[in-house]
Amino acid sequence: MIWNDKRYYSIDSYLKQTFGEKVYRLSLHGGMTCPNRDGTLGHHGCIFCSAAGSGDFAQKYLPIPEQIAAAKEQIRQKRNCQKFIAYFQAYTNTYAPVDYLRDLFFDAIKDPDVVILSIGTRPDCLSNEILELLGELNQIKPVWIELGLQTIHAKTHRFIRSGFTLDCFHEAVRQLSQRNISVIVHVILGLPGETRQEMLETVFHVGHLPIFGIKLQLLHVLSDTDLGILYQKHPFPLFTQEEYCTMIADCLEILPETITIHRLTGDGPKELLMAPLWSSAKRSVLNQIQKVLKNRDTWQGKYFVPENNMIHIRSETNGRSPNPI
Ligand code: SF4
Repeated sequence: MIWNDKRYYSIDSYLKQTFGEKVYRLSLHGGMTCPNRDGTLGHHGCIFCSAAGSGDFAQKYLPIPEQIAAAKEQIRQKRNCQKFIAYFQAYTNTYAPVDYLRDLFFDAIKDPDVVILSIGTRPDCLSNEILELLGELNQIKPVWIELGLQTIHAKTHRFIRSGFTLDCFHEAVRQLSQRNISVIVHVILGLPGETRQEMLETVFHVGHLPIFGIKLQLLHVLSDTDLGILYQKHPFPLFTQEEYCTMIADCLEILPETITIHRLTGDGPKELLMAPLWSSAKRSVLNQIQKVLKNRDTWQGKYFVPENNMIHIRSETNGRSPNPI
């Protein structure tokens, strides 16, 4: 299957098919922090996380209707658009008492132009009462929950100081999918100490979960992070653009064609970006990914193997794809 010539199921295609037009994101600030920053689990956050809490484009905290009005106005200065996603991206957006979250999220979905509520959070910040609230909201407008898994490997979780386990993540996915809430999983490619095979194992694993979408994110090193300090002292290998584009093609091949692709690269703030510098030319990276897919005559799902038919995957060398054997 080829979707809009892209050879993968982009979230833009999904939104156009579902809503009949392009849908734009409004980055909103929920006024929360993160247990990995406020001392509950840690003070320094995940090793790659910037001071803005992985939400560098969100506005300062203001009442939600004001944030929505300002963000819509900003987008409409450049584009004629009618429909929006209310996106709570920075920090952990379910890390607050449920009554606070109720007011916040109902304020967001009451705007008639908001067609989706998207919430970035951690898998260990979804209590039963919060899950019930999300289920209730999902009856009114679609709710997307974005979970930053990054990797399935325990050694890397320890290194990045995520503070949660794969079991905890699985439980969150189970609870959310039981309530028909769409889950989008974030994966980082290029974390120090991981091999290509290990990265593909993460993507393969995620592709067999009951999720709606995936964000494949290139590891970028930002200057205001502990990863940045580490990189300065002991530079570790990072993907070249060519290697990364090949890796993305490998990942797409083993994902099912039904999973929506929300991101294929990283785009950290230019003023903080230490490496890899090529990642700031996002258009060029996306074009090169298209070129690799085309030259290889491949597409999302080409080598997807349903779990019960799967024996194992093997990672080929020289940039070729992992094939089911
Ligand atoms: S869980 Fe998210 S917001 Fe919290 S430290 Fe990690 S990346 Fe940053």
